[in-house]
Amino acid sequence: MVINFSTLCPTWNNILRNKWKKLKRNEKLKLFAELRGWPSCLIGEIYGWRDPYSRFSVENDKKYCLTCEFISWQIAHSIINGPDLILDEALLDEKEKIFVNHWLDAHVKKVVMVQVKT
Ligand SMILES: [Zn+2]
Repeated sequence: MVINFSTLCPTWNNILRNKWKKLKRNEKLKLFAELRGWPSCLIGEIYGWRDPYSRFSVENDKKYCLTCEFISWQIAHSIINGPDLILDEALLDEKEKIFVNHWLDAHVKKVVMVQVKT
């Protein structure tokens, strides 16, 4: 399975990449608050606080990683505070890459081959 930002958090990816530009300011404000709050935030989605993300190999017990939280916060701040709440897509690209790299390094279990004697 390919792990990238859109497979890790398809809901938020779809909102930010496909819907954001078409939303009204009050809709954006509501989503921005969700993006920064528990459990509706990005890492809430990734950690399986919504289905079906528990398929990823993470400790799915509502502990969370401070690095994930930090990068998630940075991703939320790809949205520029101003009259139109514009999304800085270049910044989002950059933060997504950092997030996915961190995720692969820190949270994807390495496959270990074990030979069982019979
Ligand atoms: Zn993490």
